[in-house]
Amino acid sequence: MPEILEVETARALLDARALDREIAKVHAPDSWFLKRGLTPAGVRAALRGQSFTRARRRGKLILVDVSSGAVLGLHLGMSGRVLVDDEAAGDPLLYASNKADPAWHRFGVAFADGGSMYLRDPRRLGAVELDPDEDRLGPDAFDLTLAELRAICARSRAPIKAVIMDQSRIAGLGNLLCDEALWRAGIDPARAAHDLTDDEGKRLHRAIRDTLRILGRRGGSHTGDLTSARGPGLHCPKDGAPLLRRTVGGRTTYSCPVHQH
Ligand SMILES: [Zn+2]
Repeated sequence: MPEILEVETARALLDARALDREIAKVHAPDSWFLKRGLTPAGVRAALRGQSFTRARRRGKLILVDVSSGAVLGLHLGMSGRVLVDDEAAGDPLLYASNKADPAWHRFGVAFADGGSMYLRDPRRLGAVELDPDEDRLGPDAFDLTLAELRAICARSRAPIKAVIMDQSRIAGLGNLLCDEALWRAGIDPARAAHDLTDDEGKRLHRAIRDTLRILGRRGGSHTGDLTSARGPGLHCPKDGAPLLRRTVGGRTTYSCPVHQH
């Protein structure tokens, strides 16, 4: 599943390859894929004859600026990938299926120069919207400051994992990255967020940064030390203790009962 690291790779591909090319045609065969009142005719009118000028990102939402001033919002969902000129970003082995089935091209554009950009999504859980409300998302996980994290924690009695996974509080952290960061920080995912001490807040902030940096370098959100140990009967890579598997914040959660408190 694409997490912030995979979304960032897709954004970088768009930014490197899809800008300043005139859009000749818009491919929007699936109106269910268009969200917030957007229609195939509406997105065609917004994009045709224009070009993309910049690809930004906030959390897991890709924001593509259009020469008209509009902003195209792309959600990759559970299985979405961005293709520019038929080339995908990231590691193809990551995804369940890589057949080039045109039925999975839920949205895209053909450029006047003959190239194309498509959002390919076998499971159809991604989405496209126009002028998304960026402020419904919290600060991006890459830019999160210690002061922001402390303020976010202080306001909530919910489990710390649920709080850092809540996109309106921090944009970008999904299930795997949250488990990895809390494991690195030595913090129990079920702890009430407002109970974290100053030192624990600092450790968690550093662990989020390290997780993004290290896993980004390794090649994606599936490359975490804890992630590789997920599954029944497995042990903490740090101290060898049997891992605890629970549901926290509605999601399957792995943690170490020995070094996470
Ligand atoms: Zn441990």
